[in-house]
Order: sequence, then C-alpha cells, then structure tokens
Amino acid sequence: MVFPVLPRSQVAERDRWEESSGRSDELAWQARWFSGELGRQFTSTDGRSVEIVQFGHWNRGAGPDFTEAAVRIDGTLMTGDIEMDLEATGWESHGHSTNPSFGGVVLHVHLHRPADGTWFTRTADHRQVTQVELDPSLADGRPPWWGRLPEARLGRCAAPLRDFSTERLNTLLSSAAQYRLQRKAERWGALARSHSTSQALFCGCAEALGYRHNKLPMFSLAQRLPVDTVLSRHPAPIIEALCFGIAGYLEAEHFDRSKAETRGYLKDLWDHWWKFRIVHELTEGRRPPWNPGAGRPANHPQRRLAALALLAGQWRGFMNPLMTQTSLGKGWWREFQRQCAGLEHPFWSYHYTLRSAPTRKSMALLGSDRILDLLGNVLFPHLIQEGATTWESYTDLPGTTESGSLRRALLRLFGPDLAANKIRSTTGKYYQQQGLLQVFQDFCLRDHSECEECPFPEQLRQWS
Ligand code: SF4
Repeated sequence: MVFPVLPRSQVAERDRWEESSGRSDELAWQARWFSGELGRQFTSTDGRSVEIVQFGHWNRGAGPDFTEAAVRIDGTLMTGDIEMDLEATGWESHGHSTNPSFGGVVLHVHLHRPADGTWFTRTADHRQVTQVELDPSLADGRPPWWGRLPEARLGRCAAPLRDFSTERLNTLLSSAAQYRLQRKAERWGALARSHSTSQALFCGCAEALGYRHNKLPMFSLAQRLPVDTVLSRHPAPIIEALCFGIAGYLEAEHFDRSKAETRGYLKDLWDHWWKFRIVHELTEGRRPPWNPGAGRPANHPQRRLAALALLAGQWRGFMNPLMTQTSLGKGWWREFQRQCAGLEHPFWSYHYTLRSAPTRKSMALLGSDRILDLLGNVLFPHLIQEGATTWESYTDLPGTTESGSLRRALLRLFGPDLAANKIRSTTGKYYQQQGLLQVFQDFCLRDHSECEECPFPEQLRQWS
C-alpha cells in the first residue's frame, strides 16, 4: 500500500519552516507530544484510528521515548511503549529493529516517511508496529518550554496525599513496603523449596545485580550454575570462567575484537573454560539474552557478571555467617556492605567492558545502590522470614539514589515540588522508597486511563 506524502515542493517548504523555527529538534517534538499539544486522536499510516489514552512516562534513559503508555487502535486497547523519531527510517538507523528493549513499542510516531511513502516498523521479533505520522504544521509558534516539562504527569492522588500528615504518609508507605517485602520473601521461599535456600539467594543476588535491563539474563545464568553442586566445588578462577563461558563472552568474536591486554585476560578464562565447555556451553539461542546497550557503561552486563563471579567465588564466606545464625545483630548488614564494597578485580576494577580501554582510576564493582538492593531485595526478605533479623533492622537501611521508577513515582504522587520536607522525610529510607515503588507498581503501572479509573485516590480519601 502506498500512502500519500507531501509533494516535493511542500517537503522543501516544510524543511525550511522547521529549520527556521528550530522545530526539527526531536526533544522539542517529544515535549509537544507528551504535553498533549499535538492532540490525542490520530489516524495511523494504514488508515486506522489511534487514540492516545495515556501518554505514559517520558523516558530519560535508554530505551523507547515513552514507557507505560496506553493506546486505543481501532477500538482495541494496547499498552506498552511509544517511540518517536523525526524520520521514520530512524527506527532502523538507530538500531531499534534489533534491540529487544524496543520489543514492547506499540506505536511509532514520526514526522517524515521515505519519499515513496512506504515504511514498515518492525520489532526484533518481527511484529509490525502501528505508525502515526505527525503533521509538522500542528506545532504553532509557541515558545520552546519543553525543558521544563517533567517526565511524568501529576496524578489524581496528589490532591488527597497533600492533606496527609508525615505520620500518616509514613504509615501508608510502611504498609506498602511490608507487603512488598512479604511478596519477595514468598518468591525466594518458593525457589528455595524447589532447589535450595543457597540457590534461591544466589539467583536473587544475580537478578539484583542485573538491575533494570539485565535482570532476566542474570537470573537465567544463575539458574545454570547450581551453587551447591557446581560452584561450591570449584575455586574462584574456574567459577569466573564458567560465568563468562555460559554467558557467551568467551566466543572467538570477543577475543578477536579485544585489545592485547584483554586477550590475556580472556585467554586465562579460556584455559579453564575449555575443560568445562562440553558440559556447560549453551547453544546460541539458549544463551542469556543480554541487553548491553541499555544503562550506563559502569552497569554493562559484563561488569555485572564479573561482580556475580566474585560473589560466587566467595559465596560461603559471604553467606555462611548469615545463614547459620538464628539472630543477627541490629547492624549486621553493615558488615555485608563493607565486604561487598571491598570487592576488587585486576581487570574489572579498571574496565567497563571487554572492549573498553582501561581507566586510570579503579572503579567499584558494586556501588552502594546495588549493595542496598542485594540486602533489601534478597537478604532481608529471606532473613526476616527466617526470624534471623527484624523489620526494625530493615527500616534502618538508607535509601538509594533516585532510580527512574522512583523519580516517576515521586513526580506522579507528589509533583515536581519534591523539596517539601514532608516528602523528603518520608521517602529517604529504603523501606519508604520500596513502599512508594509498590504503590507505583500496583496503581500507576496498572492504570491505563491517565488516572481516571485508578481507585487509589478514593481509597486514600476513605482511609482519611
Ligand atoms: S495512576 Fe493512581 S496512583 Fe498513579 S498517579 Fe494516577 S491516581 Fe495516583
């Protein structure tokens, strides 16, 4: 099917107009889209009706431009992400068509299609994505205010929450955090019953190290490495070789593209790996689906894997003191923090990836936020369930730096004025942040009506 396109003379005029008005900037278009200035009702390039039910969140990190959006296409509600490109071909040239992070995109918004009017947007798993082509003239001459637009919209619940006292807010977040903790304990408990406690915690730690974009690959890798039967039998260098070999990072392509210094490191790993390869190597389709391009370089999955290998190499040293005591002291977790922060590696303390040049200064393999997540997401849920530590001890954990989800939750529930003491004093601890994330997960991420049908505001009013 050939779609109508602007005649060549109008294309030139459009380009001149965009250039002169400075409107070709993708960020400015994103801001207009997110503000609703461009409208909610569109017709897709193949003639279907498209209604934006929910604009979602304006992503600041890697991945699609808008996440957690809701779109009604010819009457069918679809939830997922929205990507915006100035040129439709940007989808391909930016690598979205092969990037699994873009697999959840439900709408591709762009301004210009190729001259013959045909363009197909497809995801890595070959799903066709509905396209909307914006009319550049939709943007009138309003000032470029987009730099001030927050990444998430203020929610309907902000009004009742504003009337909550600090104590009531803390009680709310505390209840949500306890529920979240219980859910995590149940998850690790189920895994422990199927395998072993040690294996459940190892998988949990691997997942926590995967952070946002590599949780599943790290978790599946840990499942391939039974901590009781494989890891406990081998010294640390073999464990590291197993981790990198199973991950698929000891293939010839990584060696061939590496610098001389890295080749020495890979060769050391290979000298161990070849002996285990026949038993442990995964075929290409079964390897963990790494997401290397998402996130900061320090969070590259290869560094995360190195951290997991180090942890696995000292697993008993880390875990035995925690697993064997029936009652841990109040600040037991500080020793765990200290041990994790002290992890060093001759190669990975100085490299972001296998291909990067060495850094001059050593870098921590596990930052404070990751260590807090190992504690808060894995160890505390398990140890509280076992009665070895307490909720009171958990509430001592300091908060992490603001993640994307946490920032969005704060913006939606409390708005951009986060300097308010009431909010700061009720979201600074780990448990409070977890409570907030639980509300965000239970209500914001389930809502596809731009707050309209969310029951949380009414629940808050009843609770008041
Ligand atoms: S979806 Fe619900 S909880 Fe989230 S911001 Fe809207 S009203 Fe608040």
